[in-house]
Amino acid sequence: MFIGHFAVGFAAKRAAPRTSLTVLLTAALFLDVLWPIFLWLGIEQVRIHPGDTRFTPLEFVSYPWSHSLLMALVWSGIVAVLYRMRTAYVVGAVWTGLLVFSHWVLDFVSHRADLPLYPGGPKVGLGLWNSVTATAVTEITMFVAGLAIYLATTRAKRWPGHVSLWSLVAFLAYMYADTVRGSVPPSVRAIEILSTALLIFVAWFVWIDRTRELRRVPS
Ligand SMILES: [Zn+2]
Repeated sequence: MFIGHFAVGFAAKRAAPRTSLTVLLTAALFLDVLWPIFLWLGIEQVRIHPGDTRFTPLEFVSYPWSHSLLMALVWSGIVAVLYRMRTAYVVGAVWTGLLVFSHWVLDFVSHRADLPLYPGGPKVGLGLWNSVTATAVTEITMFVAGLAIYLATTRAKRWPGHVSLWSLVAFLAYMYADTVRGSVPPSVRAIEILSTALLIFVAWFVWIDRTRELRRVPS
């Protein structure tokens, strides 16, 4: 899943309003933040295999450290504890942990049975990605709903608060359309470089946080 992860991150702003969008979105994407690191380290593998599922040409050969159920639980716990150590905001810590885990649940729905339950364990996945239409309808619906919740929870301080948010939305829409159209990356190295470059997103989230504020200050 791709923009569906952003959807839950945006929506969580209502549940944990005092947690920054940067933390919420990074938590929702956290397993995919780890993934390129493990690819570079050579402990996880991906292959380009057009038709692996209808939605993606990527074959996730091995990614037990970023994407097994067991490690997803471990990462969720670590992130929640780290967040709690840095702030006194328990609600934020709980939601941050849940967001990290939501990534695995959404990937479990999307991927074919390539997600290990634990490193070396049996692999699972419901395979929503076998239908491009079902995937796009599900993710776009989620994204619109998540964004609507975020818009109802925050407002732009001044005009840059509109630019920061909507430029990200436009960029994601462009990238998603490209994925739906079935573009195939030229090489595994290109996947590694692109997925690492996506860390630039974090700076974009910070920009959104700086330029938007809560509509209602939580008590
Ligand atoms: Zn993932």
